[in-house]
Amino acid sequence: MNCGQAGVKFQNWAGTYGSSPELFFRPRSVEEIQEILELARQRGKRVKVVGGGHSPSDIACSEDFMIHMGKINRILQVDKEKLQVKVEAGILLSELNLELEKHGMALANLGAVSEVTAAGVIGTGTHNTGIGHGILPTQVVAVSLLLASGEILECSESVNPEVFQAARLHLGCLGIVMSVTFQCVPEFRLREVAFPSTLSQVLDELEEHLRKSQYFRFLWFPHSENVRIIYQDPTSKPPCSSSSWFWDYAVGYYLLEFLLWISSFLPGLVVWINHVFFRLLFNSRVENVSHRIFSYECRFRQHVQDWAIPIEKTKEALLELKAALERNPGIVAHFPVEIRFSQRDEILLSPCFQQDSCYINIIMYRPYGKDVPRLHYWIAYEEIMKKHGGRPHWAKAHSCTRKDLEKMYPAFPKFCAIREKLDPTGIFLNAYLEKVFY
Ligand SMILES: Cc1cc2nc3c(=O)[nH]c(=O)nc-3n(C[C@H](O)[C@H](O)[C@H](O)COP(=O)(O)OP(=O)(O)OC[C@H]3O[C@@H](n4cnc5c(N)ncnc54)[C@H](O)[C@@H]3O)c2cc1C
Repeated sequence: MNCGQAGVKFQNWAGTYGSSPELFFRPRSVEEIQEILELARQRGKRVKVVGGGHSPSDIACSEDFMIHMGKINRILQVDKEKLQVKVEAGILLSELNLELEKHGMALANLGAVSEVTAAGVIGTGTHNTGIGHGILPTQVVAVSLLLASGEILECSESVNPEVFQAARLHLGCLGIVMSVTFQCVPEFRLREVAFPSTLSQVLDELEEHLRKSQYFRFLWFPHSENVRIIYQDPTSKPPCSSSSWFWDYAVGYYLLEFLLWISSFLPGLVVWINHVFFRLLFNSRVENVSHRIFSYECRFRQHVQDWAIPIEKTKEALLELKAALERNPGIVAHFPVEIRFSQRDEILLSPCFQQDSCYINIIMYRPYGKDVPRLHYWIAYEEIMKKHGGRPHWAKAHSCTRKDLEKMYPAFPKFCAIREKLDPTGIFLNAYLEKVFY
């Protein structure tokens, strides 16, 4: 029996949320997890699984039992004909990407970080960009769940299809994900090109950009019109990079953190920082394997919000956000506001459920761990997102409760019915999920 450790403190990656689980477990097998579940049932405790702990909210927190999946991380099967890979739920994408590389395979799309787990990224609906691509869970073809009852439930398009559309974005509340099967593509070389524009120009030419580049996104530098457009596309060009010593030797990161810290005393400095760093951020590069461009090492702890709105609302919503900042000079907004796009899907709790979507990600850094005021920025942003039919990213802290979510997600009742059937006593709930479901 895996005894569990007392006194462990959990903190998410950004250091913004944490909890003190009564017992912390690192099981190695399904049998050990079944024993933990049995112990939880006997003692009337809840159970939360944590993956890479990267969610910038309290979604993975627990004061009862916490299970870390780091030792359940094997590659179970690679099918080179179907280009599919079945992995244990706790594998990090950084490990998976390297393994796929060996087989000449890759995931078609990835989020910005790879120290996250297979089950964790699908748990919250991680996304990248590209209007011809869905959020990461759309690359999942099968999921294996260990239910509250201790039984294993397999699901896919053909086996338990209703549960499958819930499990592909599961919030950690349906059961413990034991394995995930991903549909991959042949490995591809990716080219990234970045160039300047303005907010009004990029919004006027949105359709053209979406057509021109498979993984198009842009960064807006708030308190200005400045925009950096980023195209990422498969290429046959040889690997190369044009980045500068300023970023290669991390000088830029140290300088930025220092300036952001100074600006926490002199908020007016942020406008200047946003202008200066806009000029320092242009490069182009080609990497042999796509994940080296999709994912990078994020150096800054931060607070974020990231809502998806119907794609046709992109222009209105961004112009309103810009106007809100202009109307309220007291609000300080760090760069960048990142704008990405995702294709519609049929996943019950996907922010892109039945609508092509634009994600607008806002950010406030925590220089040297210091929180900078963000309340008024957050409120103004959420109001605009709600007004335009937005749906919040599940990983990122938001203020929505069941009442709001029922209006936003047409399939919310269906998901709730599945959850209540699979976990009738709510053993997999925590404070975050209670806000969502009650
Ligand atoms: C620097 C940084 C960059 C990021 N970039 C992006 C981005 O580009 N796009 C984007 O969409 N998001 C992004 N995120 C958010 C991130 O992708 C999500 O928070 C993701 O869910 C993290 O995965 P994780 O393994 O850390 O999951 P955790 O945060 O540990 O857990 C997430 C949820 O999954 C559940 N869970 C985990 N494993 C299991 C399991 N085996 N069974 C049942 N439930 C489980 C947890 O209980 C929790 O509910 C970023 C976050 C950071 C910190």
